[in-house]
Amino acid sequence: MRYISTRGHQDRNTFCEILLEGLAPDGGLYVPEIYPQVDAATLDRWRGLPYAQLAFEIISLYADDIPLDDLKSICARTYTPEVFGSDAIVPVRALSPGVHIAGLSNGPTLAFKDMAMQLLGNLLDYELARRGEELNIVGATSGDTGSAAEYAMRGKRRIRVFMMSPHGRMSAFQQAQMFSLHDDNIHNIAVDGVFDDCQDIVKVISGDAEFKRNHRIGAVNSINWARLVAQVVYYFWAYFRVAPDNGTSVDFTVPSGNFGNVCAGHVARMMGLPISRLVVATNENDVLDEFFRTGLYRVRGRDDTLETSSPSMDISKASNLERFLFDLLGRDAGRTGSLMVDHLRQHSAFDLGDDTVFAQAADRYGFQSGRSTHADRLATIRECWQRYDTLIDPHTADAVKVAGARAEPQTPMIVLETALPVKFAATIEEAVGQVAPRPARFEGIEQLPKRFAVLPADPAVIRAFIAEKLLARVC
Ligand SMILES: *Cc1c(COP(=O)(O)O)cnc(C)c1O
Repeated sequence: MRYISTRGHQDRNTFCEILLEGLAPDGGLYVPEIYPQVDAATLDRWRGLPYAQLAFEIISLYADDIPLDDLKSICARTYTPEVFGSDAIVPVRALSPGVHIAGLSNGPTLAFKDMAMQLLGNLLDYELARRGEELNIVGATSGDTGSAAEYAMRGKRRIRVFMMSPHGRMSAFQQAQMFSLHDDNIHNIAVDGVFDDCQDIVKVISGDAEFKRNHRIGAVNSINWARLVAQVVYYFWAYFRVAPDNGTSVDFTVPSGNFGNVCAGHVARMMGLPISRLVVATNENDVLDEFFRTGLYRVRGRDDTLETSSPSMDISKASNLERFLFDLLGRDAGRTGSLMVDHLRQHSAFDLGDDTVFAQAADRYGFQSGRSTHADRLATIRECWQRYDTLIDPHTADAVKVAGARAEPQTPMIVLETALPVKFAATIEEAVGQVAPRPARFEGIEQLPKRFAVLPADPAVIRAFIAEKLLARVC
């Protein structure tokens, strides 16, 4: 399998070549040259496989430059009951008549980012060893991504993580999760500032070509293709648990922010998995709902990006949408680049509403969307609790709300659960008046000793801190 850029760069790289890359050299996103097609006989064969083996079958189609035995062992080491809490890895349960929940949040940080990040950690470890290289990951987080990255990279000898977070602004639980890690290769930096300050510092540091090269700086953001491909697996897995045979079609509803999760659903559908509709659920930050309803894609400014009670979906733009746009435009890289670069630079927006191609988003690719608010979220959490005896987190609640409006009686609906309620305890208490249960391994986590450095929101200071830590290690 070879990978090309959505903006036309044609290097035709292999999977391992793009593993450590973020954007393609032309600023586009990497996509596979073709989507491998899965026929009925293959679906029959895959139906009964345990999760790790299914992951191996699917990922091997995309990572065909890794020897099969190596990839099989990487998948087997990644998707274990010890790490993901059960033999199923992704348990699928019934919520209400016709609606099922696929639990993606049983990994080390209790959010769906673990599904991909755990695999990425093991893939990076493998590839860096093969190349004899090292990697220093510099990132910014407001919660989920940073902790998933730290738990995936902890103890990996060739990788170090420098993760910035806004000092005092994460929930006590999220802070405890990250700051209680004492591995030598994990560095928590609490920045005196807000999340945007942290992100700006990452931009400055990754824009410093010399520092980046000298210190082998990289990122593990949501546009990384390996993360996306890991997410394709659970669409197949959940399908097999809900559809009684491979002739049945299902719908998915996905709590969405950067469009990474639901983009993997698009890939699964393009491979031939019988998905009828992919419903994109947003919170009040409804960039994606607006796009799928009207064809208008409008990047929000900082002041128009709201802080909501489903904070992991508080985005101003949807970084992964470009991958779908590329397919929607008939893989016309020139047009994709013109919309993503020229139009966005000039207008912070583009509008496909009047373009005949836009109707295909729904008709041909099955996309629909919906939006949920704080009031919807609370009402949905309460209803699931009172009627169905199930406690769901605020992000999953946004999807359950939107799925309710979109479900069709003949088609099973699968909602992806992206976090456990305990991570967002305040909202759960507001909704149902009681404290969310906490898995035993997280008892008393807030009392554990914490390890983090508080630094000013100054790129020069942070850069010096990173350089000093790396130097101390070499000597
Ligand atoms: C990251 C995240 C999302 C959004 O996923 P995208 O891939 O950005 O669309 C939704 N819910 C939770 C809990 C998350 O951590």
